[in-house]
Amino acid sequence: MNLDDAKRLDAADPLRSLRELFALPEGITYLDGNSLGACPKATPERIQRAVTQEWAQGLIKSWNSAGWIDLPRRLGDRLAPWLGARPGEVLVADSTSINLYKVLHAALQLQQGQRRVIVSERSNFPTDNYIAQSVVRAHGGELVLAETPEDIPALLDERCAVLMLTHVNYRSGRMHDMGLLTRWAQQAGALAVWDLAHSAGIVPVDLLGCAADFAIGCGYKYLNGGPGAPAFVWMHPRHEGQVFQPLTGWLGHAHPFDFDSEYLPAPGIQQYQCGTPPVLAMTGLDTALDVYDAAQQRGGMRALRAKSLALTEAFIAGVDARVPGAEIHTPRDAAARGSQVSLSLPEGVDGYAVMQALIARGVIGDFRAGVPELLRFGFAPLYNSFADVVQGVDALADVVTSGAWNAPEFTSRAKVT
Ligand SMILES: *Cc1c(COP(=O)(O)O)cnc(C)c1O
Repeated sequence: MNLDDAKRLDAADPLRSLRELFALPEGITYLDGNSLGACPKATPERIQRAVTQEWAQGLIKSWNSAGWIDLPRRLGDRLAPWLGARPGEVLVADSTSINLYKVLHAALQLQQGQRRVIVSERSNFPTDNYIAQSVVRAHGGELVLAETPEDIPALLDERCAVLMLTHVNYRSGRMHDMGLLTRWAQQAGALAVWDLAHSAGIVPVDLLGCAADFAIGCGYKYLNGGPGAPAFVWMHPRHEGQVFQPLTGWLGHAHPFDFDSEYLPAPGIQQYQCGTPPVLAMTGLDTALDVYDAAQQRGGMRALRAKSLALTEAFIAGVDARVPGAEIHTPRDAAARGSQVSLSLPEGVDGYAVMQALIARGVIGDFRAGVPELLRFGFAPLYNSFADVVQGVDALADVVTSGAWNAPEFTSRAKVT
């Protein structure tokens, strides 16, 4: 694909007008929306209004008059259709790590001490496994890690309390079959907890259709809620009234403004709220969801997924053809692919330095240490174009074949990679 081909595809793209809703800098090819989504143009003004009008003028009245107090539930309702959940089932609160802590404790408590093992994957995002380590310590259990996805079924035995998986792997971009694994886990007597950090708003998710038990995920990746945007949590309604989440803050109380001395959990998902919502951060996510409303008008998830797959496929083909020695670590099978492409470079080529050299040329992806070291390129169909794919491939091919990465300004490492 050359730039002319790409421009033809962009002209025919039903989602092309959505790029105009983002404040992307001129000359930048942003391929890191899987890590930090782009900023919607409406966000600065909307947050400014929340500060200068709702806060500065409305003061404490805004908890009611501006609807601040309802943000966790209202944003949850807006997200629900993108997750295959119903309004009232999703809560926006805290971070992904914290929500995982809540649901893992709740899930182990549902097993009533009969089963105490959490099964996950060694390649899961570290925070997920770190949180699971803390939870099993508290319950006297164990975290058992599969080395490959193929090892998972054998670990679903009579000791397994919870299967905790990230739907789309942060390193490889490989996507699990959520329906199948949920069924296997539940047939073995375990509960299924899904991390949707790299799935929400980018791949089809059907939590109710899969009858999953719990789900959590990020607001700042493909959802574009802004750096550190609040995360979300979902629980299947069949668990309502059965579970107890451990962070028993006052806003998860059934009657917070009674100021009772005894904790009484609120019904349903509301129990998962702990303390006061971060209103400004919530406002960022609220504004970002307006872009999703616009996407819904232009074909919704079906269109997003089709474009996402076309973008990643075109990028993979470009890398295959143009970047010598690059190895693709993302499934080529569309059904098993999220919306990123991860690749490694041959021995002797410093992947970190290659990414720094790309960033210097205005092509932004990211680098993940580990074995192998990976360069990740995320594709966000809300704002990425086929021209972005061509620009990304061109720059990568040039940096690698010219050896331009091998310069001191690219090889020394920053704190956030
Ligand atoms: C990005 C990501 C997180 C981030 O968790 P925070 O609590 O927001 O820092 C957690 N899990 C997975 C799988 C992720 O990809």
